[in-house]
Amino acid sequence: MLRRLATLVEEHREELALIESQNVGKPIGGARGEVGMVADVFHYYAGAIDKHHGATVPVANGVDMTFREPLGVVGLIVPWNFPLNIASWKLGPALACGNTVVIKPAELTPLSLLRLAELILEAGIPEGVVNVLVGKGSVVGQRLVEHPDVAKIGFTGSTEVGVGVMRGAADTIKRVTLELGGKSANVIFADADLEKAAAAAPYAVFDNAGQDCCARSRVLVERSAYDRFASLFAEATANVKVGDPSDEATEMGPLISAQHRTTVSSFLDDGARIAFKGETPAGPGFWFPCVLVEATNDDRIAREEVFGPVAALIPFDDEADAIRIANDTPYGLSGSIWTQNGARALRVARALDAGVLSVNSNSSVRVSTPFGGFKQSGFGRELGMNALDGYSEVKNVFYSTEG
Ligand code: NDP
Repeated sequence: MLRRLATLVEEHREELALIESQNVGKPIGGARGEVGMVADVFHYYAGAIDKHHGATVPVANGVDMTFREPLGVVGLIVPWNFPLNIASWKLGPALACGNTVVIKPAELTPLSLLRLAELILEAGIPEGVVNVLVGKGSVVGQRLVEHPDVAKIGFTGSTEVGVGVMRGAADTIKRVTLELGGKSANVIFADADLEKAAAAAPYAVFDNAGQDCCARSRVLVERSAYDRFASLFAEATANVKVGDPSDEATEMGPLISAQHRTTVSSFLDDGARIAFKGETPAGPGFWFPCVLVEATNDDRIAREEVFGPVAALIPFDDEADAIRIANDTPYGLSGSIWTQNGARALRVARALDAGVLSVNSNSSVRVSTPFGGFKQSGFGRELGMNALDGYSEVKNVFYSTEG
């Protein structure tokens, strides 16, 4: 049934991409890519079903067997920035492990998940196995978190709401996985291919209009290369095509809401040293330009998640300084390291407190590899085989062979 669902998503790719583009205001090209990943996720977990299993363990006087068993009803809560994608990261492993699901989309973006729910029925998954619950997080989300019949909450959203989810789940000792916010570092050493790093940097922070938990919103640059990198970064940012999400050429659309635009703006109010500010289209839409700000790691813009197209440029002196600054944040989701020195790349990757790192690349997400955070970016892993551990319980059975 998961395989049929994956095929149905592929067959409805254009329709789902259009819904998602209109749901979030994201460029149609990006939305198409996300729907492609949704199909891949369902294919992957369909194939994973008979590869995630218990073991026999050598013990004295008998045989010991472990089994992987479903948890029961799991509650899934997803945010508005990648509604369908993040839903699939949770639905795939939850269903593969044999659970039933109550899933809550964000109030601002319920449309794509409601259409997916129709395809879930069309794939033959029985009614009642996947239930979509729409409504305010503080009402229905909270109720789901506290409900005694729900065995686990898989949550993606802000760290602030994640704290409440953990607290609300405590009374019933629910299992919880939390994928929360980030303030990730893009660390550029002077020996990096600066042209390549600068050409890639805008997409690492302005994709999805910066509304991305993995956004490399702190750009740390070795002091000797700072001026050159900053000018290459500004040049590349000026080329980001901001505009109508339905236009195939568009790379960045508007922000999600007027209220969110006010929040993002507030980061530029208090004397921020703006190094570059892009253009926005005229006319309606919650537009916000791409902005580069010169900062220190103590500035609010470097401490808090902006969740908009604003990057903080921060100089560092040497490798130890880069590691110190990169780790000086309560978050620990993702990050990048750009250098042509292989030993340094590995040293820095091992030293950074983050769950998902890339070297000479800004890519964070692959269907078959674990995704999730350190520190206040959460715990538990999505994607890959690791995700299945979070949607199953291990049962241990000892079978005596004594006569
Ligand atoms: P929120 O935390 O505001 O909301 C996330 C989800 O939780 C929504 O469905 C929301 O519902 C719901 N919710 C709100 N209040 C409660 C509550 N009291 N109890 C239960 N559920 C509740 O996050 P955003 O939607 O604003 O998303 C942005 C955040 O998500 C960013 O911080 C970002 O970093 C993070 N994120 C993390 C990812 C990761 O994998 N680490 C990936 C993507 C985003 P409603 O909106 O309907 O009120």
